[in-house]
Amino acid sequence: MQRLTGVGVSPGVVSGRAVILIQRAQALRYQIAPARVPRELERLEASRERSRQQLIEIRARVSRRRPEMASLFDAQLLMLDDPMLVPRAADSVRTERVNAEWAVHQVFQEFRAVLDEVADPYLRERTGDVADLVGRLKMNLRQGVAAPRDLLSALDESSVLVADELTPSLAAQVDWTKVRGFATDAGSRTYHTAILARSLDVPAVVGLHNASELVQAGDLVVVDGTAGEVVVDPTDEVLARAVRQAEEHVADGAHSSLGRLAATADGVRIRLDANIEFPEDLAAARYAGAEGIGLYRSEFLLTDATAPVVDEDEQYEIYRRMLEGMAPAQVTIRTFDVDEDQLASRLSRGPLAGGWLVDQERTSRQGLRGLRLSLARPELFQVQIRALLRAAKHGQLRIVFPFVSGVDEVREARRMVGAAATELVGRGDVVPRVPIGVVIEIPAAAYTADLLAREVDFFTIGTNDLIQYCLAVDRADERVSSLYEPLHPAILRVIVMVRRAAARHRIPVSLCGEMASDPALLTLLVGLGLREFSMTPGAIPMAKQVLAEVRSDEMRTLARRVLRLPTAGEIEAELMAAVGRLSLK
Ligand code: PEP
Ligand code: MG
Repeated sequence: MQRLTGVGVSPGVVSGRAVILIQRAQALRYQIAPARVPRELERLEASRERSRQQLIEIRARVSRRRPEMASLFDAQLLMLDDPMLVPRAADSVRTERVNAEWAVHQVFQEFRAVLDEVADPYLRERTGDVADLVGRLKMNLRQGVAAPRDLLSALDESSVLVADELTPSLAAQVDWTKVRGFATDAGSRTYHTAILARSLDVPAVVGLHNASELVQAGDLVVVDGTAGEVVVDPTDEVLARAVRQAEEHVADGAHSSLGRLAATADGVRIRLDANIEFPEDLAAARYAGAEGIGLYRSEFLLTDATAPVVDEDEQYEIYRRMLEGMAPAQVTIRTFDVDEDQLASRLSRGPLAGGWLVDQERTSRQGLRGLRLSLARPELFQVQIRALLRAAKHGQLRIVFPFVSGVDEVREARRMVGAAATELVGRGDVVPRVPIGVVIEIPAAAYTADLLAREVDFFTIGTNDLIQYCLAVDRADERVSSLYEPLHPAILRVIVMVRRAAARHRIPVSLCGEMASDPALLTLLVGLGLREFSMTPGAIPMAKQVLAEVRSDEMRTLARRVLRLPTAGEIEAELMAAVGRLSLK
């Protein structure tokens, strides 16, 4: 038995098998059941084969133009069969029963330690090649397993997460019904981690320095958030006490914020909805305590399904189930937000394939996209609108149009909605009045928000796109991604402008960009006067907790101060200082 002392940031006691997450290395280590070993070995082998094919292709491509470079890839191909690499990783999957990603990561660490010791600079430089190859193996392991969320949801039993650090974005992906508590190396009573743990009512200890190295995947651990302690390999007596305390904690009542509505400490109600991509995400949204669905990205029906869902009846069924599933809560469905390339690649063989679609590669997403594309492809749009209007009677539907740049487009789209409704009513269908809104995400729409507000029933501010188009920063371009700054004074001003236009015309306005999932930014947005947000479901519990800890009047004062500052850096410093003070209360 070993006791590690840290800082308890969320009370309660839990015990479980440890899952280790090394976030800095993007590696997750967990113990696999004996029956899963063969599957894990297959994944490793499949990754090696995929890597081999890729390297052969890259080598062929490169050697046509730069023959001298080909040897680099020969070396990597040789390494792929080095007994020190994949076979050694396979050994640790078998003997230590760890996941393949971790086995590869561990082998690389050993490899690097050996190379670091050698004096020969040529050999030392090979570390870079090995790192490159290991990166490729890891990338290929991720194929079909996509995100840490999938890895974490593949856990076999209730576990406790031991991590070097836990960022809010990763925490939002963890299935907290399986992961019952966490312990991290980093952090004192840091803002994010503390709030997160309290909001989820999961016991947590932070500031443990090296727990993620000391604890082995699969170790039995007790996390005691009340005492600020982690016990590894507890005695029967310690474990029994932990189980008893855990039961008392649960019996103690609802600590969690999941079930309650969001409000600030001074009682200002805030509406928190969920952004979802798949109909199956409804359960996660409800579990997280979302009031409704603030944004359903319906284009995933076209782009992510094995077969694009273009059929009206099929769409109707999906929308109906979604509305019934959330009723009486409100569901805002965004009409398809795809561009012509995405559409072309998915529908090129289907009945809606359009011969005129461009075939050259296009990287910009500023072309025929969102509502523009819907208006240019009325056959696709009409089907969606009919399906939506038919489903409307089954719940509280709102329809929102994406990528709108001006009033003309909205008028045309509304005319089409009206025509579809008349047609359906003519056929004897019941079509209730459905609020129609627009996503404010193109600067032109923001600048004409007062004009658009006369034409629609609500706004939702899509800061993901609004930021990139306002700041002229392509998020996919790494060279400028540091300029993608939600706290740029221009962004704060544009948000205020849109909120005011909505208020003047008495229409609701929400914000559905990623920005709202960051607790610090969320409090500032409340200070800027926003009262409705839609975010990834996993971020909702944390948002509720942070809102309960701030006062809206203090946030308003902070926002006023911040709006006078000239740079994003100064704004961030001011914000973090204010939020840091609050979290210590
Ligand atoms: C946005 O642009 O902020 C938004 C919510 O939509 P998406 O991320 O789907 O473009
Ligand atoms: Mg958008």
